[in-house]
Amino acid sequence: MEAISISRRAAQLGQRNWSVDEILALYALPFMDLVFRAQTEHRKHHAPNEVQLSSLLSIKTGACPEDCAYCPQSSRYDTDTPTEKLLPVQEVLEAARKAKASGAQRFCMGAAWRSPTARQIDAVAELVAEVKALGLETCVTLGMLKDGQAEQLRDAGLDYYNHNLDTSPEFYGSIITTRRYQDRLDTLARVRNAGINVCCGGIVGMGESRRDRAGLIAELANMAPYPESVPINNLVKVPGTPLAGEADIDPFEFVRTIAVARITMPRTVVRLSAGREQMDDSLQALCFMAGANSIFYGDQLLTTANPQVLRDQALFERLDIVPAGMSSAKMPLDAEAPIANDLEYATAHAAH
Ligand code: SF4
Repeated sequence: MEAISISRRAAQLGQRNWSVDEILALYALPFMDLVFRAQTEHRKHHAPNEVQLSSLLSIKTGACPEDCAYCPQSSRYDTDTPTEKLLPVQEVLEAARKAKASGAQRFCMGAAWRSPTARQIDAVAELVAEVKALGLETCVTLGMLKDGQAEQLRDAGLDYYNHNLDTSPEFYGSIITTRRYQDRLDTLARVRNAGINVCCGGIVGMGESRRDRAGLIAELANMAPYPESVPINNLVKVPGTPLAGEADIDPFEFVRTIAVARITMPRTVVRLSAGREQMDDSLQALCFMAGANSIFYGDQLLTTANPQVLRDQALFERLDIVPAGMSSAKMPLDAEAPIANDLEYATAHAAH
């Protein structure tokens, strides 16, 4: 019954339903054909030379009770990630102001919680309202939400809630055992029902198969509506986590994943997310060609290093890319870079 109503809703939205096999067929296209098709789709819905900039701050770091195998913030793994309490409001606002001055349009705040308490939601709602008042879009990632919490965040001015599916339903149990796939879908439904934009993606390079990658994309693309923002993360292998020794994924397989996300979710904003520090400029350019049109911008991505702001600015100059919403404007080269307070969370916006 639910499946029927979802496909009806999808049809009303002009979305088609994608089987995993259909997505695998996209993956199997000759590389140039796939990228050409993705770029063609991209140009129908997005300004081809614009990239959206989000800045990410870890507002509460480490000591998370969950066991996500990629995440250095889990209390179960011995990593160098520090443990910090919720940051004071003024510290968060200072980082938000810097992010804005550096050209970021959205300020994302991540907290390593399994599921926030009522008091924690009160505190984050205050932060959301203050950041919003600076003229930035707001996004938070706080873990699983209970009834009523999404509405409270919406009323405070929240624009986006990030909660990733991480991988396919079939592979999921190899990565996380402390929360179910359905728990994630339930939180996403609460966010959607509250009228908040959904930011939801996954991580590649965790030892999953191509079918698993296609399975993740199918889950995302068949949501009705599909997420407004889809971060695609390349695993950051943090020493001390169970996935620290994972083999690298072929970079072109990563590009294929971006392209397949673009084709199956043509209107979404596809974020080239964690793992960018390990990519050279050519690979990043190829990701933009394949339909990525958002990046995390700033020196740190929650707790792992993110490419330096100056390097991003230089790359944008060389590729004639402008930040979304700034059309002819250049990125403010002399602005102080936004900073996240510590390291990690790497994959972690990919987290949660
Ligand atoms: S990804 Fe999020 S929920 Fe999982 S261990 Fe890290 S902080 Fe906790």
